[in-house]
Amino acid sequence: MALFHDDKGEKKEAIIIRSKIGIIGAGVSGIAAAKQLRQHNPIVFEATDSIGGVWRHCSFNSTKLQSQRRDYEFTDYPWPNNRDNSDFPTHLEILDYLHSYANHFDILKTISFNSKVLHIRFLGSHARPFWHLAVQNTLSQTIQWYGFEFVVICMGKYGDVAQIPAFPRSKGPETFKGKVLHTLDYCKLNNEEATQLFKGKNVAVVGFKKSAIDLAMECALANQGCEGQRCTMVVRTAHWTVPHYWVWGLPLSIFYTNRSSQFLHERPNQGFLKTLLTLLLSPMRRGMSKFIESYLLWKLPLEKYGLIPDHSFDEDYASCQMAILPENFFSEAEKGRIAFKKASSKWWFWEGGIEFDDNTKLEADVVVLATGYDGKQKLNSIMEEPFRSLLDYPSASGVMPLYRGTIHPLIPNMAFLGYVESVANLHSSEIRSLWLSALLDQKFMLPAVPDMLAHTLEEVEVMKRTSRFYKRHCISTYSINHTDQICHDLGWTSWRKNNWLAEAFSHYSSEDYQSQH
Ligand SMILES: Cc1cc2nc3c(=O)[nH]c(=O)nc-3n(C[C@H](O)[C@H](O)[C@H](O)COP(=O)(O)OP(=O)(O)OC[C@H]3O[C@@H](n4cnc5c(N)ncnc54)[C@H](O)[C@@H]3O)c2cc1C
Repeated sequence: MALFHDDKGEKKEAIIIRSKIGIIGAGVSGIAAAKQLRQHNPIVFEATDSIGGVWRHCSFNSTKLQSQRRDYEFTDYPWPNNRDNSDFPTHLEILDYLHSYANHFDILKTISFNSKVLHIRFLGSHARPFWHLAVQNTLSQTIQWYGFEFVVICMGKYGDVAQIPAFPRSKGPETFKGKVLHTLDYCKLNNEEATQLFKGKNVAVVGFKKSAIDLAMECALANQGCEGQRCTMVVRTAHWTVPHYWVWGLPLSIFYTNRSSQFLHERPNQGFLKTLLTLLLSPMRRGMSKFIESYLLWKLPLEKYGLIPDHSFDEDYASCQMAILPENFFSEAEKGRIAFKKASSKWWFWEGGIEFDDNTKLEADVVVLATGYDGKQKLNSIMEEPFRSLLDYPSASGVMPLYRGTIHPLIPNMAFLGYVESVANLHSSEIRSLWLSALLDQKFMLPAVPDMLAHTLEEVEVMKRTSRFYKRHCISTYSINHTDQICHDLGWTSWRKNNWLAEAFSHYSSEDYQSQH
């Protein structure tokens, strides 16, 4: 134990040093990290009273996984029954799976629940970095300081902090006579409360991403029958949505998640020959995107509802924004239970609803802002300078420069898990936890800081060239190659299939990485 003096020189509670590693957050990323780093007896601080993160606190009653089950699976812990089951598990089934994993590997004992990290302070030197964490017990409100040699941040990009649009003066939610809430508030409602919120009400849902779509569907279901009202989705940017993982009879995976498909997509630091190949194959990549779009335009009434995106399918896939449609979504639109209003980002409240810059008004009793979350604000709120400013540095693109999706080259002895998105984020966090574990056990060394920075800058440039939505920090179009690099660091073979045919054309999922630990 050590004594701590605050900024005014006052003596504060002793600092507890019980472990080398502190992990913040017990969502999917935090429990993956706790499992892979268990040789160091880490302490996990979780602000709430349970594990699971977004699946526990940021899901609606109808929320289901939209990745395929076999992709959203720990490499050493298969889904019960059948991993190839094509049903999408509900958020409750996902929570069961995570609990069962945590129990199986005895992870719960490492977690300190109701423990919210309020500040992270750097007290060491570059030669001997050391972090202090102020942890608030959310039940007693007491604050205790802990010291760690290494901190793993797994606080999640979604949930906790709502992203609220800015409104002109006197035209914000306070003007509106009805009820305004964010999806963050909606997640807290039980089935009955959610139904009552929508039943017989004119509802506006602002947004057109996965949460907004699920929400509109819940709203439509609460408004069945002759008393039912309409739910209007306020759509600024239409995104490609898919009814399932099949396109003209072919699995979507053949276009993105097998090794041959990866040759079509640009990836960071790929060398001259691969760059040339990607360039030569770019018409094929565009053709493939058009092929998928042609199916979606045939299958879904996107034209009828003015929902044809003005960007390619490829761009949505490359930014992890492709949403799976709930069953019967467009049937509800056909019945008039779901409507769509295209709008620019300029809209505001009037006392009866929402007003747009094309001088139209939408009447509403309830407005739900499905406008996303501010994961960056969550991080900023606990980091102190200069590290807070370094989070985006040096690219100034709003994307954190994370080497191997994990290490910020300029922030010593700290890792970030769950900040890079991919085809299935559980796998993404698990494989990086494995990599981090090997790094901390000194099985390999990090490159020099300038090399890591150059690497991450190149990655951001590739993301920028691939999709206008690059700020989501998504690596889905080159996820296999990204994992190849991790395998290389770990000393594993990166080509993991049994034969060349499978290597070229079969889908890569988490089970391909299971045998080596
Ligand atoms: C509705 C929804 C559907 C999704 N569907 C998919 C999908 O189909 N496929 C997919 O791959 N991904 C999906 N995602 C993305 C999802 O975020 C990831 O799959 C994954 O669950 C993220 O896990 P995480 O641990 O990184 O973050 P989180 O789940 O957000 O967990 C973070 C944890 O940190 C805790 N925490 C935060 N701040 C503090 C603090 N200061 N101190 C202590 N603890 C703190 C939180 O309480 C939380 O438990 C979805 C996300 C949402 C919101």
